[in-house]
Amino acid sequence: MRLLVVEDEKKVASFIKKGLEEEGYVVDLTHDGESGLELALEQVHDLIVLDVHLPKKNGLRLLQELRAEKVNTPVLLLTVRAAIEDKVLGLDSGADDYLTKPFAFQELVARVRALLRRRGGGEGAILRIANLTLDLARRVVHRGAEPIELTAREYSLLEYFMRNPGRVLTRTMIAERVWGYDFDPMTNVIDVYVNYLRKKIDADREPKLIHTVRGVGYVLRAE
Ligand code: CA
Repeated sequence: MRLLVVEDEKKVASFIKKGLEEEGYVVDLTHDGESGLELALEQVHDLIVLDVHLPKKNGLRLLQELRAEKVNTPVLLLTVRAAIEDKVLGLDSGADDYLTKPFAFQELVARVRALLRRRGGGEGAILRIANLTLDLARRVVHRGAEPIELTAREYSLLEYFMRNPGRVLTRTMIAERVWGYDFDPMTNVIDVYVNYLRKKIDADREPKLIHTVRGVGYVLRAE
């Protein structure tokens, strides 16, 4: 699990990073809103811990821009004020949860775990786009009532698409997320696998779900 922490108070930031790493997460850290947004758009994260009061771009702006780019990564907001308006504004901007400073590290970890669990869907969660469904607990895929057999790699690829509907995924993003370290950038293996997947989920069916974005990558959407 890879997390992004955007927090400008260096002490708090490194304390959070260190603690989360001890919990087994990979942590990217950045200290201002602009580089935070850049990193969030560039890399795929499972969760973002986002301070509201940041230099260059505040956390709520960052969050709104992130959501406008269709990045649906869960966001845990860190706020200093316990003001109800702050929380409401944060949740309205697309945050999934918030924590008021100062907080106990154990509480941060508990919130992070809860959000990741919710995102992972827990038991019985189903990702859906048009009539394509992916059952996370049972690892089975259907188009309408028809079951679709996928290899492990095809399944990971489809899961990644279905967790990011409407978002253009570049080959680099797909490589990092689905192939990880055993990816050879000199091959066209991603295009090959996307085509396998296309044949299995889109062939002879409407609407087509996997679309090519020329020169960039692919997007999953129902139109
Ligand atoms: Ca701050």
